[in-house]
Amino acid sequence: MHVLVIGGAGYIGSHVVTALIAAGNRVTVFDNLSSGLRINLQPGAAFVHGDIRRPDSLRAALAADVEAVVHLAAFKAAGESMERPEKYADNNIGGTIQILNAMTEAGVSRFIFSSSAAVYGEPEYLPIDEDHPQKPENFYGFTKLEIERLLGWYDTLKGVRFAALRYFNAAGYAPDESVVGLEQNPANLLPVIMDVARGVRRELQIFGDDYETRDGTGVRDYVHVSDLARGHVQALDYIDKNDASLAVNLGSESGLSVLEILSAARWITGREIPARTVGRRAGDPAELVATSAFARETLGWKAELSDVDSLVETSWKVYRRYL
Ligand code: UDP
Repeated sequence: MHVLVIGGAGYIGSHVVTALIAAGNRVTVFDNLSSGLRINLQPGAAFVHGDIRRPDSLRAALAADVEAVVHLAAFKAAGESMERPEKYADNNIGGTIQILNAMTEAGVSRFIFSSSAAVYGEPEYLPIDEDHPQKPENFYGFTKLEIERLLGWYDTLKGVRFAALRYFNAAGYAPDESVVGLEQNPANLLPVIMDVARGVRRELQIFGDDYETRDGTGVRDYVHVSDLARGHVQALDYIDKNDASLAVNLGSESGLSVLEILSAARWITGREIPARTVGRRAGDPAELVATSAFARETLGWKAELSDVDSLVETSWKVYRRYL
């Protein structure tokens, strides 16, 4: 299939590109390089430098026999989304509407969407399944939920078949080092730990150690980015074969605390990685863990590389290139 990967120069997007190419697809990356990186562009993929808020460039990209779209182009900083909702509304929601309209105009009806566990908000029970109430705690999560709702209507009214993939915490790098771009100004735990390990940040700030978790620090479901990437390929196959849409969790189904990741990172990197406990970060729940039973049943997908050692080792392999 010819797949247009919007946001394909980003961290998750470039891994999705490698998985699609490995599965035999033809790939074109569409990216405005606002946070995506040229170094992430894969040799086997074509590249269009364009912005999702400009329908003309989208139309032109879709005109080249595209059969499916994978859309990962979004702003994703939950904290910033509360201060600048207009930026998130315009790009995440407005940009996706442009894509959907350009797709339906071009007759492209397969759509894989980067959704997020942020659509659920504060957990009411664990593990979180797809029927968990959806009450996003931040505007970022709201944009993802709003797009999922739009997709339901485009499915009914326009025949767009979609998979909304609700990522839990993406982490790690492709073990074959096919992606080596580092995220710019990361706020996520593992990239921050890696930056401390390679000496470009002084210390890790641990956001609270008084949660009701096994060691007091926040517990999350970290899923290896190569597992996530494979999920996109399997989801595309699913919507194609079944002519049906779905929203599905992609998580490892096991929780890791901040301290567990930190101690694995100290062990694997052999570096001190100074850390200091500070106050809780606003809006952070104590624990978020998925059940991915639905992904297993529908897509035959299961996390395979998402243990703490693989997450840290594959990250360090890439970060240590920049020592
Ligand atoms: N965290 C931390 N220090 C940091 C970044 C994150 O202690 O510099 C904690 C955060 O409170 C949460 C976990 O690490 O418990 C994962 O946070 P991240 O921002 O990576 O992902 P989130 O779950 O917020 O999407």
